[in-house]
Amino acid sequence: MLKFPGNVFMIIAPSGAGKSSLVNALLAQDNNISLSISCTTRDPRPGEQEGREYYFTTKQDFLQLRDADQLLEWAEVHGNFYGTPRSPIEKAIAQGKDILLEIDWQGARQVRQHFPGVTGIFILPPSIDVLETRLTQRGQDSASVITRRILAAGNEIAHAPECEYVIINEDFATALSELQKIVAAARLRYQSQAARHAQLFSQLGISDSAR
Ligand code: 5GP
Repeated sequence: MLKFPGNVFMIIAPSGAGKSSLVNALLAQDNNISLSISCTTRDPRPGEQEGREYYFTTKQDFLQLRDADQLLEWAEVHGNFYGTPRSPIEKAIAQGKDILLEIDWQGARQVRQHFPGVTGIFILPPSIDVLETRLTQRGQDSASVITRRILAAGNEIAHAPECEYVIINEDFATALSELQKIVAAARLRYQSQAARHAQLFSQLGISDSAR
C-alpha cells in the first residue's frame, strides 16, 4: 500500500443528491482538506468560474492531458469528459494535506487502484422523488439534460456498494455532521496515523510487519 501522510477522500453521488453543498460546507469548516479541481469538456454553467468549479478545456486539450498521463483518472459522464489532475493531489498528500475528489463511479474505481487506502463516501438522496425535484429546481440545465441525468442517477446509485460509507442526505445538518465524522475517523485509521506520525511510531518501536 502506498503511504502518504495525507488522506484521499472521494465523494460519489448522482446529480441532485446535494453533494456540492455538503462538500462546500465541509471545506469551509476544515482547514486541512481541499477540493481537487477537475478538468471538464462541458460548458460552464451560469456563475461557474474557471479554476474554481472546474478547469474548462476543449476536448483536444483534455485528450492531450490524458495521453500525457497528467490525469489521475478520467471518465465520460453525461456526454462530457471529466478528469482529475494528478500532480496537485500527489503534492498535497505528500505534504500531509487531505484531498477530496468529487467524481463518478468510473473515476472512483481508477483512484482506488492508485490509492487503495482511499475513503469512498456515497451520498444518497432520501428518495427518487426528492432527487428529481432537486434537479428540476436547480434551473441551470435544459429539460433534456435533466431527463438524461435522472436516468443516469439510477446507474450511479447502483455503485453505492463500492464505497466504505453512505450518507443519506435528508437533513443537511445531519448529513454534514456525518460527513465530518467520517473524515475524522478516516484520519485516525492505523495507516493514516502511521504515515503522519512516522517518527513517533518508529520511536515507539511499532512495526508494520505486525499487521
Ligand atoms: P457536473 O457536470 O454536474 O458538475 O458533474 C457531473 C458528474 O461528473 C458528477 O457525477 C461528478 O461527480 C462527475 N465528475 C466531476 N468531476 C469529475 C472528475 O474529475 N472525474 C470523474 N470521473 N467524474 C467527475
